[in-house]
Amino acid sequence: MSKSTMKFKTEVSQLLELVTHSLYSNKEIFIRELVSNASDALDKIRLEGLKDKKLLEGNDDLKIKIDFNKDAGTITITDTGIGMTKEELIDNIGTIAKSGTKEFFNKLKEMKESEDKQAELIGQFGVGFYSAFIVSEKIVINTRKAGKGNEPVRWESDGKEKFTIDTSDRTERGTEITLYLNKEDVDFASEWKIKDIVKKYSDYITYPIQMTIEREEKPKDKDGKEIEGAEAVTTYKDETINSQKAIWQKAKKDVKKEEYNEFYRHISHDYDEPLERIHLNVEGILSYKALLYLPKKAPYDLFMREAKIGVSLYVRNVFIMDDNKHLLPEYMRFVKGVVDSADLPLNVSREILQEDKTLDKIQKNLVKKILETLKKMKEKDTEKYIEFYTEFGKVLKEGIYTDFENKDKLTDLILFESTKTEEGKVTSFAEYVERMPENQTEIYYITGESRKSLENSPHLEKFKQKDYEVLFFTDPIDEFIVNGLTEYKEKKLKSVGKGEVDLSDEKEKEENKKKKESDKKKYGSLLDSIKDALKDDIKEVRISSRLTSSAVCLVSDENDISPHMEKIFKSMNQEIPRSKRILELNPNHPILEVMQSIYDNDKKDTKLGEYSELLYDQAVLAEGAPLKDPVKFAHRMADLMVFEGKTKVTKK
Ligand code: ADP
Repeated sequence: MSKSTMKFKTEVSQLLELVTHSLYSNKEIFIRELVSNASDALDKIRLEGLKDKKLLEGNDDLKIKIDFNKDAGTITITDTGIGMTKEELIDNIGTIAKSGTKEFFNKLKEMKESEDKQAELIGQFGVGFYSAFIVSEKIVINTRKAGKGNEPVRWESDGKEKFTIDTSDRTERGTEITLYLNKEDVDFASEWKIKDIVKKYSDYITYPIQMTIEREEKPKDKDGKEIEGAEAVTTYKDETINSQKAIWQKAKKDVKKEEYNEFYRHISHDYDEPLERIHLNVEGILSYKALLYLPKKAPYDLFMREAKIGVSLYVRNVFIMDDNKHLLPEYMRFVKGVVDSADLPLNVSREILQEDKTLDKIQKNLVKKILETLKKMKEKDTEKYIEFYTEFGKVLKEGIYTDFENKDKLTDLILFESTKTEEGKVTSFAEYVERMPENQTEIYYITGESRKSLENSPHLEKFKQKDYEVLFFTDPIDEFIVNGLTEYKEKKLKSVGKGEVDLSDEKEKEENKKKKESDKKKYGSLLDSIKDALKDDIKEVRISSRLTSSAVCLVSDENDISPHMEKIFKSMNQEIPRSKRILELNPNHPILEVMQSIYDNDKKDTKLGEYSELLYDQAVLAEGAPLKDPVKFAHRMADLMVFEGKTKVTKK
């Protein structure tokens, strides 16, 4: 390998500049980031080593070493981890590898946020290695990847535009990173400073973090007593400076809030504190420890395909695997944390886990605990729960149709706006049911894009008149929920835009029935002629029981797919056959009388067809949907205005 100079990708240079400026007030985190990377690299070699013992040959001592040199102003962090090849080094350090980070970073640049805010946002993504440039004018990496024949590589950069790649003389497996500290940052090259920072941020790292401690000591005699008059000599001793005590193994009372939060930052790359934590120590037939966190903010990739399960599996303090689909169901992918089981073998593989019943039981237990925590939060600290729900409610809803066993519990956790809540305020099914008037038997909802677009829907008229509450289902996922959730506490869920709606009491029903029959007789042939005029768009025309002021509305059959759902499918590029809808007419609206008299006068009057189409267009508009032919509609409206205006003028 000959020495070559390469340029950082533009975004890396920009990120470096931003990082060095915006994280200025919190410089010391570079140690946490580098130690965290070293710990990950050790996890990797340990796992690979289980599969292929040869990889660990020559050095099975898995550890991190921190050295410093005050005079030279350097700090060196070395690990016996997996190491990197030349390609990996270029890929990992020279580019922003994670696609989401890149997108996020580009957005951040445009945002012009304050530096504090930027630091916080950047922290969410874990700037990792780059944070070392906050304190360094130059960084040198020497690394050799595990495995025979892998050539050691040397990387060097001042963190501005370029880096060089060269052959290294490193013989051991692993990575050594040397920071040449800025003049104003040489204070970091101190035993106490480093010890302090490691204690603060990295104490729980499960591998030993060692330091060579230098002391001036007087020689001792055979009893251990200092020899008087003898000259002091310099001694060097390797000391482990972290307790290595996995935080989840400790008793709750022995863990400080700060430690919990630091650990959360380590596993989540989130700069913020968690919203809630759950620390479990389960003993019995099943025994495991778990430390789970609910974040405050949803990560950018929560709904992307690559979203991972945020809980890792450990066996007796040793990291086994992350993104484990057996530990938590997918709809709980937002939970971060670790689960440590003493009942599994260390060399457990994904395949074995699939068969293993232990994990199934642990999963059940964890889900139960998480749901209990949320329930409690909802009852005791509603504000906090709403903060959580605003970020993660959508994911939780997925559980309603994927986790049959917990459907009821989840249903109690979801919230909606309704015709009886103020804008932006939410209510639950339980509260809805409590408010139901005695004679109301079903739970009503309306689906659509937003509360605004639904609030004045003709479908709500009768409900408003009756003072019945209607829930706004405005999340695309809500349409899917109702497929799995047909009732709540034995009360059927009913869409106000589907099927027949009759909110009358028994006595009224009788009268309505009679009135409907007479209307049918009276308007029957007219309705047939309207249906004929609109046969391409609708399958039926009928007299409505749900309208009080509007002339018309469109409804679907009970089992038809709703137009909102059709739209959702379309947005996912899935074509589904369009289902024709039903046009309902308000029997108390004068338009019906008008049309009837035109019909009586001349069944073939072209106005009938035109009015039918106008009625249909009105119904479409009232739903906030686009018209098929808006120009035609506009012309017709203009003609009508002229006609009406003229009639009025002649009358005078
Ligand atoms: P992150 O740790 O968030 O992935 P970093 O910029 O800190 O981001 O590191 C980028 C990548 O470089 C890591 O994902 C890892 O693949 C590699 N890396 C960093 N430090 C080490 C190390 N000490 N040993 C092996 N690989 C490392």
